[in-house]
Amino acid sequence: MTDTAALLAAVPGLARHLRPATLLHPYAVPGGAPADPAASRIGGPAEWPPGEPWPHCTARHPEEEDVLPRRAPEPPTAATALVPLARIRAEDAPHLPRPPGTDLLQVLWCPNDHDDIQGERYYYGPAVELHWQRAADLAPATPPPPRLSAPEYLPRPCAVRPEHLLDLPDRDELPEELVRAVAEFAEQQGLEYERDLGRADGWKLGGWPSWHCTDLIPIDCHCGARMRLLLTVESGEDPDLSLGRHGELHVFVCPVDPAHPVGLDIQG
Ligand SMILES: [Zn+2]
Ligand SMILES: [Zn+2]
Repeated sequence: MTDTAALLAAVPGLARHLRPATLLHPYAVPGGAPADPAASRIGGPAEWPPGEPWPHCTARHPEEEDVLPRRAPEPPTAATALVPLARIRAEDAPHLPRPPGTDLLQVLWCPNDHDDIQGERYYYGPAVELHWQRAADLAPATPPPPRLSAPEYLPRPCAVRPEHLLDLPDRDELPEELVRAVAEFAEQQGLEYERDLGRADGWKLGGWPSWHCTDLIPIDCHCGARMRLLLTVESGEDPDLSLGRHGELHVFVCPVDPAHPVGLDIQG
């Protein structure tokens, strides 16, 4: 029996906190693109429905304001092209909610910092867009390179090795009685819950977020719904990104309507 299975046997109340997740395990490939163009991947060649415009970011970029003189009236912000962050086949993450008829999730982002995209909720990092599409509707595309980009937000193309698992939350997300039961079990076994038993680390679809820098921050949609974690983007070697102080970015989606704007949080 694995440690996690033993934990679940000892603390059955944990079972309802299990969430399905897919760890992606990205790895750089020689030549810059995975051999199978239909496979899930990080970064890499762009694909888009022919005839539809490639998405651009029109938000304010703080780094640009440092170099451009302010004029009155302020000129409209020039758009900059988004770049592909991830292309995910739905079958690699069947647990994600998706619009009917779609079989592919493209995650695009603006590879620059933003400080005003979430209104009241503090965030400083890339702007993220999710596009659920049908693979059959896409064709290779050559979007313009971003007019402005930070090197730490340009992913090196990677293939992925999807691994399905059931994820457990950090202690902050559990009711008090379960926190106590989990701590007791871990102590008996000479283990640490968060290090040895709980949430999986790394590039991940679904599952639970880490709150290692801040206390738990409830991420609520503007419609009032509590959002759910869709994607964890990890800093590090492959695909060579760095978020916050080499931390991780969490992308949350609205359970009521996946078309509502994503929620973003960086744990530096
Ligand atoms: Zn932007
Ligand atoms: Zn919503």
